[in-house]
Amino acid sequence: MAIPPRNAGASSSRRRPIDDHEDISDEDERPPKPFIMDNEEGWTKETFVDRPIPASQTNVVAMATVHNRLGEMMNMIKETINQARDAAQTIEECSPNDDKILEVEKIAMRAIEQYRIVEIKYKVFGEIIQELRAGQDLVGGEGRFKQETKAKTEEYMSKTIRQKFKEDAFYEDFRQVIWEVKHPHEGRPPLSTWLPREDADESDDEDFEVGGTLQTYRCPLSLLPYEDAVRSTTCGHSFSRKAIEGLIESTAKSHRDRKKPKCPVTGCNHEITKAFLEPNPELQARSDRFLAQQKKMAEQEEDEAVDISQDD
Ligand SMILES: [Zn+2]
Repeated sequence: MAIPPRNAGASSSRRRPIDDHEDISDEDERPPKPFIMDNEEGWTKETFVDRPIPASQTNVVAMATVHNRLGEMMNMIKETINQARDAAQTIEECSPNDDKILEVEKIAMRAIEQYRIVEIKYKVFGEIIQELRAGQDLVGGEGRFKQETKAKTEEYMSKTIRQKFKEDAFYEDFRQVIWEVKHPHEGRPPLSTWLPREDADESDDEDFEVGGTLQTYRCPLSLLPYEDAVRSTTCGHSFSRKAIEGLIESTAKSHRDRKKPKCPVTGCNHEITKAFLEPNPELQARSDRFLAQQKKMAEQEEDEAVDISQDD
């Protein structure tokens, strides 16, 4: 039988669900399969099979399309993570400490892992596209994509549950939302409280963990509730966009180029520039929910006060 040309039948026979973990098939313990890939189209590993990738306009456009698909995939997974979080919140409101939350947590964790793995591909791919845009030819670009994503995915998957989640922003959001249902005026314990210790976990890792402080959801600069929260990627601190951009602008004006703006959080001396600010929608959403909840509680207290006065 003649071997069909490379592109023959591409639409039907070659389209198949992606196995995100094909790269680590030599591992005994395979992580769970991705769950949203079945109806994905237009993305096959073969798209990138060992060809040198010249920096032509067409290639960059084609690759940018795939890159966008990865971004869409991340958004879809994010929706699942948020749905799991909302479900857990509802469970906690209706029946506190229900074991069902642990089942929902499993779904959330699996989705978070999937998100982080697609994110690895998204980032590596983005870097390659940037280089192509800069006019560099990438010989063996596909090999590099495979190699880098494989190494980073393996590194991520070899982590323990605790290592994966104790600083994960999605998991923090998940636990924070559940915590606030019953403890609106109390700081949340460190995330490791909910993450079992495995043999591979260091014994003293908790000493350095954040937690126990009461989240007030106020911008450390404006001292008002967050508005359009942004995170500085150099140090991780978050602010309301207007407040921090105002500070950066005024520092730049008053000091010309002799002094660079520094992060205003006490004890943090990291440089801070607009280019390093990224939106922090998770924090913004938490902040909004916190405010709404406080308002609701204040209203309830008012109602109760009215009830008491009527009893008199
Ligand atoms: Zn900082």
